Amino acid sequence: MKTFEFTRPPDATTAIATAAHAKTAQQSADVRFIAGGTTLVDLMKLNVETPARVLDINRLPLDKIEPTSDGGLKIGATVRNSDLANHPTVRRDYPVLSQALLNGASAQLRNMATTAGNILQRTRCMYFRDTAMPCNKREPGTGCPAITGANRSLAVLGTSEHCIATNPSDMCVAMAALEATIHVQGPKGLRSIAFGDFHLLPGNTPHRETVLEPGDLITHVTLPTPIKGSKQLYLKLRDRASYEFALASAAVVISVVGGSVVRARIALGGVGAKPWRSQEAEAALVGRSADKASFRKAAEAAMRDAKAQSQNGFKIELAKRCLTHALQMAITT
Ligand SMILES: Cc1cc2nc3c(=O)[nH]c(=O)nc-3n(C[C@H](O)[C@H](O)[C@H](O)COP(=O)(O)OP(=O)(O)OC[C@H]3O[C@@H](n4cnc5c(N)ncnc54)[C@H](O)[C@@H]3O)c2cc1C
Ligand code: SF4
Repeated sequence: MKTFEFTRPPDATTAIATAAHAKTAQQSADVRFIAGGTTLVDLMKLNVETPARVLDINRLPLDKIEPTSDGGLKIGATVRNSDLANHPTVRRDYPVLSQALLNGASAQLRNMATTAGNILQRTRCMYFRDTAMPCNKREPGTGCPAITGANRSLAVLGTSEHCIATNPSDMCVAMAALEATIHVQGPKGLRSIAFGDFHLLPGNTPHRETVLEPGDLITHVTLPTPIKGSKQLYLKLRDRASYEFALASAAVVISVVGGSVVRARIALGGVGAKPWRSQEAEAALVGRSADKASFRKAAEAAMRDAKAQSQNGFKIELAKRCLTHALQMAITT
């Protein structure tokens, strides 16, 4: 690991002003915030991330879960994943989020990992994590060996000829389905970003993963008012039952009246270059009977634009089955 300066800024304003000196935005920047450290320290040990300055934000007052005035929920950036998963309001009103969090990593990691850190975790693509290999995301312009190499776990939706990395987060899939909003404080002030607009597709700039600018600090995430009477479920399919990333996952929030779907929010994990909200699946569901045939049609719609690489074609059918099954399970809970 390269040497770096470690400081604890006394407040958010100082943290932001210091981080604003970075040449690029947070990811790969030379000045970095650190929260739980479970992504950043890993990547620093591998020399994939080599910040000169690391700013510890754990003492900033960003660790609360509070109701919002409009009936939603405000989740601080440094709230630990385990605290969020086990919060009574989250378990009651946003169970899909609790389930997604509890399906991620391990109990020990969830005790350290934070809301903002989870949103900004980086791909598990093996070439990205190996500095002996080329990788457009780590070193722009060097190439993407995954396209012809080991791509079994990589994305089939939203990829480009420059990068096919999967976004690995479980929590983000639930937040996409819940239509969360990310709140950022930066050198130019405060702004709110719809969850679906926060992560960027790789296109020809795979090193740019989010809309964050140098100095931007995620302060909190808000969830809208819970949808009364909705059924929610997170289903994760993976190579082993715990401590493993998704091959395919689905977060569903569905309302059924008189046997018909009146509202659906669908997001997929493990298959997309970003947490994958599927408005195609939602459109295919609304107004249809809440049965297996409609659910399968919605899953077909969700995966219509999927593009397989040499080893990950199985994910397309896996994701369809995952979503179909998640919807069936949701309406029977
Ligand atoms: C072995 C292992 C297995 C895992 N399995 C899973 C899994 O199955 N599912 C899953 O979803 N995740 C999994 N993870 C990933 C884990 O969820 C993330 O590492 C964790 O959520 C990151 O949170 P953190 O607080 O530790 O982030 P950190 O490592 O502290 O930070 C991550 C990034 O976020 C930036 N950052 C942190 N806070 C802020 C802020 N407030 N504003 C702006 N930038 C900020 C940092 O600069 C850094 O770029 C796994 C991790 C490991 C190591
Ligand atoms: S898929 Fe993306 S992260 Fe993986 S090697 Fe290619 S460019 Fe790098």
